[in-house]
Amino acid sequence: MKKVLILEDEVSIRSFVVINLKRAGYEAIEAGTGAEALEKLKENPDAGVAILDIMLPDIDGFEVCRTIRATNKSIGIIMLTARTQEMDKVTGLMTGADDYVTKPFSPAELTARIDALYRRIGPDGGGESGEQQQGPFLLNTRNRTLEKNGKRIKLTQVEYAIMKLFMQNPGRALSREDILTSVWGRDFDGELKIVDVNIRRLRIKIEDDTANPTYITTIWGFGYKWGV
Ligand code: CA
Repeated sequence: MKKVLILEDEVSIRSFVVINLKRAGYEAIEAGTGAEALEKLKENPDAGVAILDIMLPDIDGFEVCRTIRATNKSIGIIMLTARTQEMDKVTGLMTGADDYVTKPFSPAELTARIDALYRRIGPDGGGESGEQQQGPFLLNTRNRTLEKNGKRIKLTQVEYAIMKLFMQNPGRALSREDILTSVWGRDFDGELKIVDVNIRRLRIKIEDDTANPTYITTIWGFGYKWGV
């Protein structure tokens, strides 16, 4: 069964999420503190998605996210944010989260996000196989990895999905809406900002000079273009 970790100190919200996870066919692993979440993930390395609340009694959700990401690039991470400030979302994404859900949320919204993440972290669809080399970059769609000059670049699943989209569309200007729809899914109602934040993070990992990006170029007022 697909496992989802839910880290939330408020028991009523946690129980609500657990009930809905089970209803949607997931096995729920519960944690009430950051430390407990990290412990539970160690015991359940096959958990595919973690939902992290930000305000916690011990360490905050951003710190938990950073700690998970330090050793695990492939797990999908959704931040639960009570506040609606843009900063929270941006901070969450910069610490390595893939998505965020703002409280209060409907069970349908949360499970749709989890389903979408699970689809992304699952095996790539049939028909595509093997490797794609472009300039110094080698994308392996079988094991979902990226190398630059033979060196592995550690990507989150979202970053990988963006790279794959770019490398399938070399030289083509992609609008931020195109990227959002392709990577986050048609049902995603988040903001376009999430695209920019992920591109910023990706540039840090793949560009020779982050201040002067040459692989992912910005098309002002529209989107981004990939080229090598
Ligand atoms: Ca909380």
